[in-house]
Amino acid sequence: MRCRYLRNYSLDTSQWVVISCAARKGLYIPSAYELHGYCIGKGHRLCPYYLRKIFNRRQNKKEAAA
Ligand code: SF4
Repeated sequence: MRCRYLRNYSLDTSQWVVISCAARKGLYIPSAYELHGYCIGKGHRLCPYYLRKIFNRRQNKKEAAA
């Protein structure tokens, strides 16, 4: 299963595709290594950006509940 934060943008022709990571605040384009090692498979659970995003979401939920 691919990472939930992986975003694809393509034109109708599908000749150009831009892939970005929505887990970071600024624009971030994962490298080919990151795409194959993390983004498009189960390895995304080990990605430091993914882990930070999940940690921050849990922290925000705890703070909202307190
Ligand atoms: S695996 Fe990491 S780099 Fe890739 S989309 Fe997810 S959070 Fe971003």
